[in-house]
Amino acid sequence: MSEENQLLTRWRQVCAQLDASASQCGRDPASVRLLAVSKQHAAETIRVLARAGQLDFGESYVQEAQQKQVSLNDLTLTWHFIGQIQSNKTRLIAEHFQWVHTVDRLKHAIRLNEQRPAHRGPLQICIQVKLVEEAGKGGIWPEQVADLAKAIQPLSQVTLRGLMCIPPPLSDPAAQLAQFQRMAVLMQELNEQGLSLDTLSMGMSDDYPAAIAAGATLIRIGTAIFGTRKQKHEEQ
Ligand SMILES: *Cc1c(COP(=O)(O)O)cnc(C)c1O
Repeated sequence: MSEENQLLTRWRQVCAQLDASASQCGRDPASVRLLAVSKQHAAETIRVLARAGQLDFGESYVQEAQQKQVSLNDLTLTWHFIGQIQSNKTRLIAEHFQWVHTVDRLKHAIRLNEQRPAHRGPLQICIQVKLVEEAGKGGIWPEQVADLAKAIQPLSQVTLRGLMCIPPPLSDPAAQLAQFQRMAVLMQELNEQGLSLDTLSMGMSDDYPAAIAAGATLIRIGTAIFGTRKQKHEEQ
């Protein structure tokens, strides 16, 4: 099989598994959005998937993403920033992405709000939540989310859509499910407090069926679509 066919085959397998996982728990497969995480993969690889109908792409490094966006500017794609936010990059993020999944402090939300070009409409954002302490990873504790969410809500150029997490890898599907269910409960509690969140960004190549079973509305899949990445930068 050509590399291109292998890529399309893996992508179709992920789409089929998404459908199956959703159907198994009585969810409409259309309620789960597939984000193809294309970090470290070339613009031309993205183009192959875009031609097949994949329109949401996730990137973790601003400059790398920008170069690909330039090569692909003839396509209408939705770009999601899923890397850690650095204060000196918020302007580029606000200008070049439609979604940001990794907001974990008010300062960044305020900067994104100020720097979002008005003609692009509000930036769609998620708050990153951590469920266990892990060195080098972003996110705030579940108990801290309500205060941050309420402080973000009045900002007009960002729209708070929901919560995102990158839980530590677990091989037991029941343990994976339990982690993701904490996120679903948290979102429900926030909505009961008057927020209107509709997005749970959770599930990666090794745990997305469990994430879907727990209510994920957006899964972020890299390896299962593109194959393994070479180690580069700080991962995630
Ligand atoms: C790299 C990355 C992914 C994709 O991970 P895979 O295990 O390759 O599917 C998802 N989310 C975030 C935040 C990432 O950095």
